[in-house]
Amino acid sequence: MKITEVRTIVTCPGRNYVLVKILTDEGVYGVGEGSMNSSEPAVAAMIEHSSQWLIGQNPFNIEDLWQILYRNTYWRGGPVFRTALGALDIALWDLKAKALNVPVYELLGGRARRGVLCYTHSGGGSYDEIVEDVQRCQEAGFRVIRVQHGGYGGPGILGHDPNPIEGFPAIPIFEPGGYLSDTPKMFEHLRMALGDEVELCHDVHEQLGPTDAAWLARALEPFRLYFLEDPVMPEEWEGLRQIRSASTTRIALGEILYNREHIIPLITERLIDFLRTPPMRMGGLTEARKIFSVAEMYDVRTAFHGAQDIGPIAQAASVHFNLAIHNMGVQEWVTYPDAAYEVMPGACTFSEGLANPNPGPGLGIDIDEDLAKKYPFQTARLPIFRRWDGGIHRH
Ligand code: MG
Repeated sequence: MKITEVRTIVTCPGRNYVLVKILTDEGVYGVGEGSMNSSEPAVAAMIEHSSQWLIGQNPFNIEDLWQILYRNTYWRGGPVFRTALGALDIALWDLKAKALNVPVYELLGGRARRGVLCYTHSGGGSYDEIVEDVQRCQEAGFRVIRVQHGGYGGPGILGHDPNPIEGFPAIPIFEPGGYLSDTPKMFEHLRMALGDEVELCHDVHEQLGPTDAAWLARALEPFRLYFLEDPVMPEEWEGLRQIRSASTTRIALGEILYNREHIIPLITERLIDFLRTPPMRMGGLTEARKIFSVAEMYDVRTAFHGAQDIGPIAQAASVHFNLAIHNMGVQEWVTYPDAAYEVMPGACTFSEGLANPNPGPGLGIDIDEDLAKKYPFQTARLPIFRRWDGGIHRH
C-alpha cells in the first residue's frame, strides 16, 4: 500500500476546523485533524508542506513516518508544527486501523474501560444559578462538573475597554481581587447546597500569577476540587512549585503546551496531577503514547482539552486513546454545532457519564468533503484582557 495524496480541508461549520485526509492506492484512507483556534491557515500550510514526505510511502509504518516528518523540519517543535504533525499522525492511525478492520483503540492496546469519564461546563450569574446548572448537568449524567461564576474572569471583570481595537471582540477589564475573594465563597456555597459527593473542578484560565494562584489553591482545599485548571500560564511553570508547596489541591495544566521538553519536567517534578495536552496538539497518538507512558509512572492522568475549538475528529482521537491507557483521568466534553456533525459524521457519543467512539473500524468518523466546502473559513479572534489602568493583562 502506498500514500498517493494528502488533502487539507479548512472548514467552518459553526467553528473553524483544520482537517486532513490521507489517501492510498488501495482506496482505503485515513482522516485527521489539526485545528488551532485563530491560527488555522498556518497549520493548514504546515500540513500541506509536510505532505511531500508522505507521498509514495507505506502508511503502515507510522513510527518511521513520524520520525521522517519530525526530523525533516530541522527546526523542530512549536505549536503549529506539532499540531500539523498531530493531524497527519492521527490520520495514519485511522488509516491503518481501517485497513485492518479494527477500531484505533485496539491498535493502542485494547479497551481498558467501559467508556471515557467526561466533565462538562457549568456556571451562572449567581451562586443559586450555578447550583441549578450543576444539578442539570448531574441529571444529564455527568459526575464531574466544571463550575465558573460568570464567564471568563468571573467576578474579576469590572467592565469593558471603552476604546476597543477595531475588529476585535470587546476587551474585558480584569482585576484579580474580586475574583480571588469570590471563588472560595462560591465553592463554600456549592458544597453546602450540593454535598460532598459531586466532583467539581474550576478553570482559572491562567488569569493569576503564582503567588495569587497559590493563595487560591490553598483557600480551595476545604472544598476538595477534582482539579484546579491552569492556575498560571505554562510560561510560568516554575511558579507551580510555589503552588505545590502551599497546597494539596490537584492541578491540571497543559492545554496550550505541545512540546515534550516542556511537558516532561511537569510530570517528573510532580508539579501537575492532570495533563491537558490532547494527542492532536503534541504530535499525535504516536507522541501521546510515549508521554503518557512516562506520566503513568508519576500518577499523572489525562484531562484532555476538549473545548469546541477542538473538533469531532480530534475528540475521537482523544477518546480512543483514553479508552486504551491505564492513566486515563477525565475528558473535557462538549457538543458541536449540527453542521459540524454533518461535515464529520460518526462523532463520539456521551451516555450516563461516559463517552464512546462510534463503532466501526478506525476512529469511526469521516469527512464529507463536499459539505465542508459549503462552510468556508471565517477569521476569528481570541479575546485579550486589560487591567483597570489600561495595561494589557497576562492572559
Ligand atoms: Mg481551560
